[in-house]
Amino acid sequence: MKTFCSKDCPDFCDFYIEEENGKPVFKSAEEKNGRNGFVCSKLKDFYEREITHGAESDPESLSKAAELIKSLNGSEFLFMRGSGSLGYAMGWWDVLFSGIKDAVFIEGSPCDITGETAHEFDFGVCDNPPAENLKNADSIIIFGRNAKVVSQHFFSYLLRLKKAGKRILYIDPIRTETAPSATDFIQINPACDGLLCEAYLTEDSGRRRELIAQTGLTEAEYNLFAGYIKKGRTAFITGFGLQRYKNGMAMVRWINRLAVKTGNESLLYYARGSKTELASVPKQPVRRVNISLLPDIIEQFPLMIIVGANPAVTFPETDKWHKALEKVKLISIDTNITETSKHADVFIRAGGMFAQNDVMGSYFFNDRPSVRGKFAALPSDSELAAELAGLLGVRLDITDPETVERKAPPSRKYTEKPLESAYPHESEGYRLITGSHTSYLNSQVPPSMGENDAFVFISPETAEKEQLTDGSNVEVFSPSGSFTGVINVSANIAGNVIFAYKNRKMTKGYINCATPVILTDSGNGVAYYDTFVNMVRK
Ligand code: SF4
Repeated sequence: MKTFCSKDCPDFCDFYIEEENGKPVFKSAEEKNGRNGFVCSKLKDFYEREITHGAESDPESLSKAAELIKSLNGSEFLFMRGSGSLGYAMGWWDVLFSGIKDAVFIEGSPCDITGETAHEFDFGVCDNPPAENLKNADSIIIFGRNAKVVSQHFFSYLLRLKKAGKRILYIDPIRTETAPSATDFIQINPACDGLLCEAYLTEDSGRRRELIAQTGLTEAEYNLFAGYIKKGRTAFITGFGLQRYKNGMAMVRWINRLAVKTGNESLLYYARGSKTELASVPKQPVRRVNISLLPDIIEQFPLMIIVGANPAVTFPETDKWHKALEKVKLISIDTNITETSKHADVFIRAGGMFAQNDVMGSYFFNDRPSVRGKFAALPSDSELAAELAGLLGVRLDITDPETVERKAPPSRKYTEKPLESAYPHESEGYRLITGSHTSYLNSQVPPSMGENDAFVFISPETAEKEQLTDGSNVEVFSPSGSFTGVINVSANIAGNVIFAYKNRKMTKGYINCATPVILTDSGNGVAYYDTFVNMVRK
């Protein structure tokens, strides 16, 4: 059957899946403006994790969950839904719990919300132009999107554009897997992309020199950047990493301003709502608590319900999360037993994306939404939500994916508003930056990957200063907590940055044990990369 991947990397790929001798066989869908054309290497890992090694089902779990919710007798409880799968059907959980007046939702997200807020502020909407517009660009500047890892099909499209003569400049504080494929690479100081854009736009040469000095770029590197923009039509592609700093919204807004002021608005890309062309699920108004209050606020509630999320690994303050989840009653709805669902009083096994008929559009490509059928014979999220609604006596009328109403896509309208210089937040110690891995998404690590690459990547300067070599065991700590990992000295890392693959299980602990809760300047996102740590040899 033809289906699509609803995982939250931006590509939204179509593919074919069939069963042969009890095993899935994946086949690629035809290439279309950068989407599809080959099977992404992560797909079989998702199947391995969610279906082959998915959790056992407890046939009583839904009735146990209903009893637990009913036993609250009107006390408020917390509800959190993750975005590990972005399909429309996950929204039926929101509809169900919005129909229960005692459910308290979370305001904010750890993912892309800061950049989204920046686009809505500047353009009234968060949308992308068609990917085909890139064919009209003479060059492409990528700010902090490690496309080779996070966006495999888009990366292959970029390579084709490069072959067709486009020059690609990649700017990132880490020399990632994407850097060797760009025409040019500039290693910028973390959180300085906004200052770089401002340097280009200012007419005051003294001010420009000041700003360039902050970015850590040489004059030649700045001239390379400026030359890209001056020599013709330039596309700007903004990654999610740079909105995970305290000044993330301001940085994204400076990139927006640069694109508009240089006449390249139709070549400015960030992301778009994957459900933007679909009528919203009929959710009722809800009460919310801000994401920055997590996990401390959890113990004020008798119950927390977590759907498709693993905050004990992916959110800051891992140790506090474990303590909070020990104290609260927890209903976890997921495909696998995770660090979060280990604490569950009731665990409901969901079949995941292979079991869910669904509809959605792309998170990046401006294509019309696709519809998919159910492949795996396991309970889907919408089926589980409907059954739980029945047990709770809540009305939930689920719309078939084929009949979800389509809306006209919104369009951008730029309004120039005040924008301050986007200076980075600095503190004592090393800046901890995390990044995506080619083999997994968020904390969805396939079992076959094992647990043997708990690397802490440091720069050669840091190695010399701390007298550390490859293979040294270190404890990385901050006031929030610590984790232990294995040193890998890498020329891909510069200055005082420490890099690790995100949400990975380390030799001891998880990366986010050391991450404090800091909000970005949009007030609803998490500034993961403003985590400052120190190291001690173990
Ligand atoms: S690139 Fe992303 S959306 Fe596409 S199949 Fe792979 S994981 Fe899914």
